Amino acid sequence: LNNLLLSILGQIPSPALASLIGKECLLPYYHLVSDEAVPHVAPLFGYRDIAGFKKDLELLCSRHRPISLEEFLATVSERGQPPEKAFLLTFDDGFREMHDVVAPILHAKGIPAVFFVISETLDNRALCFQQKIALLCHHSHFTSPAALSAARDLLKGQGFAGADLIVRLKSVPWAKRQVLDSLAAFFGLDFAAYAQQQKPYLTNEQISSLLSRGFSIGGHSVSHPRYSDLSLTDQLQQTKGCMELLAAQFSLKHRVFAFPHTDRGVHREFFDILFQEKVVEATFGTTGPYCDSILFSFQRDSFEKPNLPAKSLYARHALRRSIHRLGGRRPIQRD
Ligand SMILES: [Zn+2]
Repeated sequence: LNNLLLSILGQIPSPALASLIGKECLLPYYHLVSDEAVPHVAPLFGYRDIAGFKKDLELLCSRHRPISLEEFLATVSERGQPPEKAFLLTFDDGFREMHDVVAPILHAKGIPAVFFVISETLDNRALCFQQKIALLCHHSHFTSPAALSAARDLLKGQGFAGADLIVRLKSVPWAKRQVLDSLAAFFGLDFAAYAQQQKPYLTNEQISSLLSRGFSIGGHSVSHPRYSDLSLTDQLQQTKGCMELLAAQFSLKHRVFAFPHTDRGVHREFFDILFQEKVVEATFGTTGPYCDSILFSFQRDSFEKPNLPAKSLYARHALRRSIHRLGGRRPIQRD
């Protein structure tokens, strides 16, 4: 759907849109809310500024009731489906802005949320490979032509060919992330120092403070790989490693997990082991409006389109859901 169509959709009166979405429970997800150009994120994707985020909340609250993770899980356990006409807000990657920007806004409005964190980044012990890519892209604009040429050669030697350096950097997958550390020197970057000085992620104290204000914390893997690229053993290690560290560090009432990137291509066996061994109570993916054939696997909708007002985005989600409903609503099948 292009932006023009979306802006037209945004003009549909609220009751009509609300009836399109029906009684569903919305699961919006975000990564960041900030008025700043955050260099370790901005080159990768856009995000809402504070005013835009507040408008999203107004719209969501006018049509749905904000619920906590606790209520969400309890209702699914009782009735086999989430609460009606509700929304559960979620945020991935555990950036410090969750504590500094998002939590104060939500707390003032009485809106619960779940923050999913990457365990290797806790307390800013390390940068996730995605933040390394973003920083390299950002710094490429201030790097000498000779250093850029050396960086291009290094990438080419590792199999990342192509004219555009930014495109090449963004194509580096998790499995080859070591190349990013080798590139840092060309860009005058010290990733460890950046993590310590800029503190991009939540600290343990900030997480404890979020928990004490009633927010929920969930796992988002050890180091943010795409799960469909991993063996079953590695998928389990990434999930268990993260959840065990969170459980040891914080007293979590509930154990929930959001897949990095997407859960597309993740087989039923992974979910069976996860739920049988009680590693987690529920998992969250990013392919709303689809529903899942696995009871405690849920799909979320992105509300993170900085160029689209909340009304248009809501209209898009409403339309996608009705099309999906009309099509017979087949759940995601897992082999
Ligand atoms: Zn993520």
